[in-house]
Amino acid sequence: MMAGEQQSLFDTGQPADVLGEFSVGGVIVREVRCRSLLNRCGIGDYSFNCYVGCGHGCGYCYARFMQRFHPHAEAWGAFVDVRINAPAVLARQVRRLPPGCVFTCSACDGWQPIEERYRLTRRCCELLLNAGFELTVLTKSRLVLRDLDIFAGRPVQLGVTITTPDESWARVWEPGASSVADRIEVLRQAKAAGLRTETYTSQADFLVGLLQRAASEPEAFDGWDAQALRQFKTLTHPEHLGRAFRVLVQTRAS
Ligand code: SF4
Repeated sequence: MMAGEQQSLFDTGQPADVLGEFSVGGVIVREVRCRSLLNRCGIGDYSFNCYVGCGHGCGYCYARFMQRFHPHAEAWGAFVDVRINAPAVLARQVRRLPPGCVFTCSACDGWQPIEERYRLTRRCCELLLNAGFELTVLTKSRLVLRDLDIFAGRPVQLGVTITTPDESWARVWEPGASSVADRIEVLRQAKAAGLRTETYTSQADFLVGLLQRAASEPEAFDGWDAQALRQFKTLTHPEHLGRAFRVLVQTRAS
């Protein structure tokens, strides 16, 4: 993704005044107010983010770039700003905007752990669906299952990101996200609820994961790559897999 495209995913407005601050599980949570929520977006027509920051803290997160617009003293994954007036602001915006497809969410995971407490993403999704918008949901959290009741029978596509089939590596790679098994369970239940489902995986993330695992555990590598191939061949394009493995083999041989 180019820098300009990345910027279009973010709300680049001024940092908001902090109304309250506390810590949950080592993550600094700040309650703030926003002036607008729904942005025009390169993925779909719109996107929104009820949170600035993401408690999933993925090591490869592109949203780290948004620290340029919303600087924080804490590292990425160690802070979340909660836009507590998000549903009220969104309700005002949807009265003025033509319905379209909303990518949910573009610069955070809308179902990161703090959403369990605030339920802002849920309330915004409900509001959008009631106003005739479509949703493209992308998450790494099992918490999204809570909201299948408002998604079922509506124009919602639900995707999960899976970058590795290896649970121990996922804990390092995506420390605050749900387990890989839980993400697959999300797909299963979403499909059973009649939703269109999708699995997203990045060739670059997958390849880096393979290389790091191969470097740290070379003795386990021969067995692991076969296992990975079996699990991933249904999730990624064969051409990408072939390229990833060719690079991997070249790296091992050098
Ligand atoms: S879940 Fe997405 S937004 Fe959150 S840290 Fe991971 S990559 Fe970034």
